[in-house]
Amino acid sequence: MRSWQRTFRGPTSWTTCSRVARSTRACAEPFLALPEASARGADELDLVVFPTALRGDGRGADLPWLREIPDTLSSVSWSPWAEISPAVARRLAVATGDLLAISTAAGKVQVPAYVFPGLRDDAVALPLGGPEAMALLPAVKDARSGALAFSSVRATVRRAGERIRLPVLEGSPYQHGRNIVPTVTATAPAVPRPDLSHKMYTEPKHPEHRWAMAIDLDRCTGCQACVVACFAENNVPVMGPEAAVLGRYMGWLRLERYLGDEPGGELDVQLLPLMCQQCGNAPCEPVCPTYATYHTAEGLNAQVYNRCVGTRYCANNCPYKVRTFNWRDAEFVKPLNMQLNPDVTVRSRGVAEKCTFCVQRIRYSENQARDEGRPVADGEIVPACAQTCAARAIVFGDANDPASRVSALARQPRGFRALEEVNTQPAVTYLARIRTKEEP
Ligand code: SF4
Repeated sequence: MRSWQRTFRGPTSWTTCSRVARSTRACAEPFLALPEASARGADELDLVVFPTALRGDGRGADLPWLREIPDTLSSVSWSPWAEISPAVARRLAVATGDLLAISTAAGKVQVPAYVFPGLRDDAVALPLGGPEAMALLPAVKDARSGALAFSSVRATVRRAGERIRLPVLEGSPYQHGRNIVPTVTATAPAVPRPDLSHKMYTEPKHPEHRWAMAIDLDRCTGCQACVVACFAENNVPVMGPEAAVLGRYMGWLRLERYLGDEPGGELDVQLLPLMCQQCGNAPCEPVCPTYATYHTAEGLNAQVYNRCVGTRYCANNCPYKVRTFNWRDAEFVKPLNMQLNPDVTVRSRGVAEKCTFCVQRIRYSENQARDEGRPVADGEIVPACAQTCAARAIVFGDANDPASRVSALARQPRGFRALEEVNTQPAVTYLARIRTKEEP
């Protein structure tokens, strides 16, 4: 039992709602019978305690995978955080990473600030999944549901004076006019694509298969189940908070998130699940001095760990920054060694690694089909991320087969490739989100 669970012994019908075990009306009821909030004082903010995509109501918050993977919207891992708006941050003279002293009638905590432009100027928001949020909530029950009342609490927020290095994975959360994640509308349903007809080099041939992926951003909810599945399938190690503050995240798939075009502009959250794009013109391949990374006849950008000497030229030359480097040997202390996938190597210190489209699953299906004297069927190979995505946003298949689902999706007018203008010829096609609001 965790410390916040010991503190809170109330009924848990709110969490039952989060498992969709009750009707929509029943889920709304706790919020209809909340106790009356007191009038807000001049320096008080509304306390908002919220579930996150990864850790939900917090019951999985001590699981290493869920702590290592950065939160979808804030990109914070391992640490608790308190979200405040840019206006509140200016008033308190704090920036992301500065400690905030937050107090309510129930308790006091010190939590690092995360300045988030999506928050109202009269609120401070803490994610569930640690003792901090629960320490601030008074033991007030909602009259109708009997659950702990999560809102109607006022909090005083002050600058504590100290600063920590918050493990935040994001670089800039803005697209800065680059339109990296384009969107479409009903009246303009096609993404403009660059003209790549001028070739400088002979492109590689893929005589039998060209394994490819299509990711529909209109379906993606940002739940990160695909990211967790990738950790599990590919023996991706958890490096811990010390590595996280240095930006040493080992995930092969991450959810790239943008909050808008420029700071201070319209909040426009866009998500892009980003893994190795298995490029046709892969910038990582010609720079490897030991040929540890090379292009296969099936279009995969393979990585031979035994050849890698750790120069990291490949990671520097990758425009997608999807290659990771093992700064230390991964530890899978007993009984965690039992979770390892025997079909995938555990990489040692000093080598680069990245997504392989779950090549072990590709080989298994290819061998199975060969033994049965038949071609690999469309949809037969399912990488771990695609298998786990509840929204069915990820489709995998053979781009050489014009009848495959992945080929059909890649032909859609919504299709685009990440940083297409640099002509890396990725095997991943994204389908742009459809905005309901028309551009002016
Ligand atoms: S691709 Fe699917 S599993 Fe991954 S974040 Fe989006 S909805 Fe979740």
